[in-house]
This record gives sequence, structure tokens and C-alpha cells, in this order.
Amino acid sequence: MKTLGEFELIERYFKRPARRAALGVGDDCALLAPAPGMQLAISSDMLVEGRHFLATVDPVLLGHKALAVNLSDLAACGAKPLAFTLALALPRAEAKWLEPFAHGLLALADAQGCELIGGDTTQGPLNICITVFGEVPAGQALLRSGAKAGDDLYLSGNVGDARLALEVFRGTVSVPSAVFQLARARMEQPTPRVALGLALRGIASSAIDISDGLLGDLGHILKQSAVGASVDTDAAVSRVAARAAYASVEPLAGTTVTPAQWLEWALAGGDDYELLFTAAPSQRAAVLAASEASQTAVTRIGRIEAERGLRLVDGQGQTGPNSYTSFDHFA
Ligand code: ADP
Ligand code: MG
Repeated sequence: MKTLGEFELIERYFKRPARRAALGVGDDCALLAPAPGMQLAISSDMLVEGRHFLATVDPVLLGHKALAVNLSDLAACGAKPLAFTLALALPRAEAKWLEPFAHGLLALADAQGCELIGGDTTQGPLNICITVFGEVPAGQALLRSGAKAGDDLYLSGNVGDARLALEVFRGTVSVPSAVFQLARARMEQPTPRVALGLALRGIASSAIDISDGLLGDLGHILKQSAVGASVDTDAAVSRVAARAAYASVEPLAGTTVTPAQWLEWALAGGDDYELLFTAAPSQRAAVLAASEASQTAVTRIGRIEAERGLRLVDGQGQTGPNSYTSFDHFA
């Protein structure tokens, strides 16, 4: 297999004509001007082999996911994607990996109008670090700190499915193949909720994207907003797509997953890349309109309360404390 030089590699796979940026790949810096009245929203996320993905993952999907998890942060702030940089450590410069990786990455970039404007390339254990730049009208970014007692708590899309796929890969549970495929797609190809984030500007009082588990990430909103919440656990578990998929066919047959596991994965599964946000009850019609405009399902899963702490409430109205922990790289 022929390997490529560093500059040949950049030229072939990552150099593209600048569009929105004043200057893209090829000089010492890229140049990017925010439009008048806009603030730049900036976020970085790193994906490390063995930590965030398995060595066997399809490079097309890895390229997609590396950018998707970064776009998810822009979505959570209500920012419109503009551009990104790519810092890449690669064990080998091989076309058979680079070509599909670049394809997955740039297909999502093009779909979201987010251009690759620079980066760095080095040899080393596979490590992908992306920094995204977005724009949001000054003062309108959705923050973790804006939740108020009495606000509704909402969740976009589905949760828990990525964790199901991970557990199947680990061999701790088994599910029918069609259910696994659905869950695996959620793990390997998350959909960043950019359109919903944009539609929620001026409507949501706070927002965060869920990467480390629903309750753990909710904890960040509660802390930074100095409030508490109650979460409807039945509403949350109803948003595990894989569970719903075959519960509708033959109630939970053909799986070794227990009800407690479905619940745990919905509440603390991780790798979901959905939005969790709050809005005043007076905004219910506006939230519904934002959901429809962005073609993204939104479910009301709880309420923000003045009393600090997190309370779990089930369908029978039974309240219990939160005993789930969120993912922590150093715990
Ligand atoms: P320098 O040594 O001045 O930092 P490099 O030689 O590392 O510059 O990079 C040359 C150009 O290629 C720069 O514009 C840089 O942003 C770009 N670049 C390097 N690696 C990547 C990459 N993986 N993706 C996109 N652009 C890259
Ligand atoms: Mg360099």
C-alpha cells in the first residue's frame, strides 16, 4: 500500500476552496470574519480510538461522527455552523482509510454548510480533534444558566440507543438483529440537532446537548441555573427508539435487556447527542412549532422546580431520588 506525504495528504483530502471564510486551508492561519452583530460560538471535541470509538468502525461513519459531536455543541447554543478545523493524528497515511474518512466528514460538513478551513496533521495513535465555529446574534446564545422554576423540560429525538449498541458490542446483552442495526446507527451516526437549536432561539430558556447521559447533563443546567427538577421516567424511557421498535411488535421478546436497563440507558446511557432544553409553559405552542419547523421530535419529560436537586417521578406518581451517575472519563 502506497502511503502519502503530509502535504500531499492535506492537498488531496482536506484542501477545498474557501467559501464563507476569507481564507481557508493553505496558509499559516485561516481568516474568518463574523457578520456584523454576530458572536462567534466556538467548541472543540476530541475522539480517541479505544476511548470514543472502536478500531473496527467504518471510517465513513467516524468522519461523520467526529463532526456531528462538535455540531451538537453549536446546536445546544443555538448557533449556526460556519467553519471547522481538523487536527488529526494518524498511525499511517493510507488512502483506503483517508478517502472514506474525508468523505463521511465532508458530506456532513456540506450538508450543514460548515467549511473545513484548516487543521494539523501528524503521525501518532488515531486521534481526531475538531474545533467548530458558529455564529449567533449577540446575546441570543442558548446557555445552561437560564432555566427558571416552573419551566418545562424537553428532550429532542431519542436516548439510550447508542448505549444499547455499545452493550451489544460488549456482549453483555443481546437483541434481534434489526433492533441492533437501529441502535448501532444511533451510536455511529448521530444526528446533530442544529435546525432545532436555531429554531429554539428566543424560545428556550436554557439548553445543553446530551453526551454523557440525560440526567448527568441535566445536572449541569440545574447547577448553572441554581434550580432543581423533576423528571418523568416513563416519558424518558419511551424515547428509547430500539425499545419502542420491538415493544410494538412483540412486547420486549427476543432480548435479554431488563426494564431496569432500558431505564438506566435512557437516563444515563451517554453518546446520545440530543438536546435537553427548558422553556416557560407560555412557550408550549412555540416549542411545538420549532419541533415541526426543524422536523425533530420533542418530548416534554419534566419540570424545573425551585427546590434544588433532581427527583424522578414514574407513571404512578411515585417519586424517588436520582441514583444514576453520568459518564466521567476520570471516575
Ligand atoms: P503550519 O506548520 O504552519 O502549522 P501545516 O504545514 O501544519 O502548517 O499545515 C499547512 C496548511 O494545511 C495549514 O493551512 C493548515 O491549516 C492545513 N492543514 C493541516 N492539516 C490539516 C487537516 N487535517 N485538515 C485541514 N487542513 C489542514
Ligand atoms: Mg502544523
